[in-house]
Amino acid sequence: MTDSLGLLGVDQAELDSCVACGLCLPHCPTYRVTGADTHSPRGRIALMRVVDEGIAPLSDEIVESFDSCIQCRACETACPGDVPFGHLLEATKEFVETTQRRAPWWLKLGLRGLTRPRLLRFVSSSLAVAQRLRLVPSRRMGIPERLPVRRRALRPTGDDVWLFTGCVMDAWQRDIHLATQEVIEATGTTVRPTGSAAPCCGALHTHAGLGNDARKLAARAISALDGNNAILVNSAGCGAALKDYGRLLDSDEARSFSARVFDIHEWLAAHIDELAKTAAESQIAGRVAIQDPCHLRHVQGSHTAVRRVLQPFVEELVELDDEGMCCGAGGAYSLVHRQLALDVRARKSEAVNRSGADLVVSANPGCSMHLEAAGLTVRHPVELIAEALRTR
Ligand code: SF4
Ligand code: SF4
Repeated sequence: MTDSLGLLGVDQAELDSCVACGLCLPHCPTYRVTGADTHSPRGRIALMRVVDEGIAPLSDEIVESFDSCIQCRACETACPGDVPFGHLLEATKEFVETTQRRAPWWLKLGLRGLTRPRLLRFVSSSLAVAQRLRLVPSRRMGIPERLPVRRRALRPTGDDVWLFTGCVMDAWQRDIHLATQEVIEATGTTVRPTGSAAPCCGALHTHAGLGNDARKLAARAISALDGNNAILVNSAGCGAALKDYGRLLDSDEARSFSARVFDIHEWLAAHIDELAKTAAESQIAGRVAIQDPCHLRHVQGSHTAVRRVLQPFVEELVELDDEGMCCGAGGAYSLVHRQLALDVRARKSEAVNRSGADLVVSANPGCSMHLEAAGLTVRHPVELIAEALRTR
């Protein structure tokens, strides 16, 4: 139930629930690298309040404070008062975008392209060819160094579960979807990839303040993925967005849809006995560090399932000593706030190096691409499971 609304249109009781204790500060990646209160959850909430109450106009400095947030939501996990920071910031960014249209044109164009799968695949393949001809400064553009020119097809094998394939991940990391399908099928479950029926979850649109676009994409996915079967998601960011449709659209239909969504590791953890029978003879050798994507750890709370499903298949799992600090990817954040994203990533790279790991697993496409660009070897957890199963 929404309490009274101020200028921002956020629930004022939620906004007032922050008591400015500062316990979230050490967990905020942007505060950790800049030390500025305007780059902290407490400072951002204080600025939301003054704008909401009409005490200060939306100045460039205030908008920068909101924009510089990676939306990792580590502050929510740390907050003893359960302040719903993520939803407050999403509503604030929508207000900023509606009143001042601050999102760069190229970002809006790119986000529109995510909803057109054929166009996205065509552009991706063209970029891949240009990469082979050394015409694309991939690092400067923040894209993977070797995009696929062609992708193997995903084919439905039945209707037991949906596999949500999304947009960028489907165009750039199709092999992870293929590995995911392989692992699900190893449990005796048939799979229907969602493909063009639900081309994008809308997470990046929500983060950019493009709420109307996000709600349209949510409505489209809900009507396309009908039935009662589970919807499995191997991207932490997409899974968090799909699970939030109930709140986003505030309808019973959306809430029932969200209840059918499972992160792939959550679902596999419930089927681990079927998978792990022969795991002891087919383990992946070496030290594997787990990087928890923020939307798996802080939003979905499904990060422990990654450990449960990987354990039987990996010789040695190692934990990073940074308490799940964000890697700085943040969807399109690393393109818009390059330096902050690099500074935050440097801390993650140091944590990985300290762990002595041979490779890192990450269950989110944005994180894995961002970390790969730092020279780390990154795989999706299901890729390792698929590889281990193949050697049975
Ligand atoms: S968001 Fe929570 S932890 Fe952070 S200052 Fe406010 S009440 Fe304290
Ligand atoms: S969402 Fe992340 S970056 Fe934003 S204020 Fe919270 S901890 Fe900091």
